[in-house]
Amino acid sequence: MTLRAGVLAVQGDVSEHAAAIERAAAAHDETAEVVEIRESGIVPDCDALLLPGGESTTISRLVSREGIDAEIQAHVDDGKPVLATCAGLIVAATDAQDDRVETLNLIDATIERNAFGRQKDSFEAPLDVAGLDEPFPAVFIRAPIIDYVGDGVEVLASWDDRPVAVRDGPVVGTSFHPELTDDSRVHDLAFFDSVQA
Ligand code: GLN
Repeated sequence: MTLRAGVLAVQGDVSEHAAAIERAAAAHDETAEVVEIRESGIVPDCDALLLPGGESTTISRLVSREGIDAEIQAHVDDGKPVLATCAGLIVAATDAQDDRVETLNLIDATIERNAFGRQKDSFEAPLDVAGLDEPFPAVFIRAPIIDYVGDGVEVLASWDDRPVAVRDGPVVGTSFHPELTDDSRVHDLAFFDSVQA
């Protein structure tokens, strides 16, 4: 099967995510067709969606201005998978604790933006992630952290006892940037495990 994966391309690491999705597909003897989303009308034809990092205030403004927000919500209502990373996680949550971010309410979670102090602004750490045999090399860049998750949310990984990777139904959210390593296991977890289930 060919997975048609849409990457929200208003900001962020689009080509790195596209490469990670293609590698994850190849590991399943499948192929992925990656399309960039900058306007409405593309999301309804996608099997999977990726909301990358960037600046959550900018991303949320563009998504609502272009009318992509309702399309993403309909995609999730249909049970189709989403991977939301860093700023993408902030936009996907229910509460970003910041009025400038219009959240999409895809993940029942309250987020603290830029939660790591200055020396830890950017760092890489091996992270134990539920469902993965070996630690994942997680790259955090001015990363958010999760303050609170609702009952239906599974915590996949934590840092300093606070969640940094979660799953709410078909939506996986990470505080870190899984596209910045050659390791595509988080993309695999988000897209191929749930697509095949
Ligand atoms: N600090 C950014 C925000 O709050 C997120 C950083 C990122 O995506 N790397 O939107």
